[in-house]
Amino acid sequence: MEINRIRCKSILSKTGLYGVDYSANPYIGCSHSCAYCYAVFMKKFTGHEDEWGSFVDVKMNAPELLKEEVKKKKCGSVLLSSVTDPYQPAEKDYKISRELLDILEKNGFSVSVLTKNSLVLRDLDILKKFDHGKLSVGFTVNSVDERDTRIWEPGASSFEERLEALEKLHSENIPTYLHVGPWLEGITNLKQILDRTEDIIQEFQVENMNTTRKDEILDTVRKNYPDLEQRYRKTVSDPKKHNQRLKKEVEDLRKRSRVPIKVYID
Ligand code: SF4
Repeated sequence: MEINRIRCKSILSKTGLYGVDYSANPYIGCSHSCAYCYAVFMKKFTGHEDEWGSFVDVKMNAPELLKEEVKKKKCGSVLLSSVTDPYQPAEKDYKISRELLDILEKNGFSVSVLTKNSLVLRDLDILKKFDHGKLSVGFTVNSVDERDTRIWEPGASSFEERLEALEKLHSENIPTYLHVGPWLEGITNLKQILDRTEDIIQEFQVENMNTTRKDEILDTVRKNYPDLEQRYRKTVSDPKKHNQRLKKEVEDLRKRSRVPIKVYID
């Protein structure tokens, strides 16, 4: 893994994603190396030619920039993060997300943390300081099956580790949510995921499959789920039908869910 220490020009970016005002991305690149990751577009903007997942740029000056930006920008809600995972392994050493969380809490911003790594529990001391209604912590999950997790998200925590982290956060009265993204047809079992998590989350979110990396998605399916190859070929060539099927699946799921379910379709 190539780790580069870099300096950035700003850290809070305006966004309409998931209903938040800003996103903050402490890293460029992500060693979780998810096969479907659409953040690969960042390579274009950052001059990286190496394979996605093989490098991480650490924004070393992000905390010092944030201290200035929170004074100038309107107080609002922040998604940590949108195009990288804030608790990927590099965070263990660099603690940039930890510092950002601390600054945001001290300045009254609301934060939604979204991760696939149980390292977020390290920062429980800061998470517990947020005022009621100003924090939620979400885990992205696409399958309860460990084989699927290793295939699609080789660098992330296992499903059981994510579940344990959610349980711990819930037991500490920290609002939590579950984000299924992307919904992998024939692989993601929404009912199973809901069954395992609905008692410890406030919201269940489902996102459609972004086909930006359709070649990698098809390659992963061909190698690991040969029976699904034809189905995925149809899906990537006709995403509208995929989205319709997702809406239908969610309609059925809502009938039995004890938590609200939101659907995100890009
Ligand atoms: S955790 Fe998110 S940002 Fe990281 S590789 Fe996976 S999809 Fe991409």
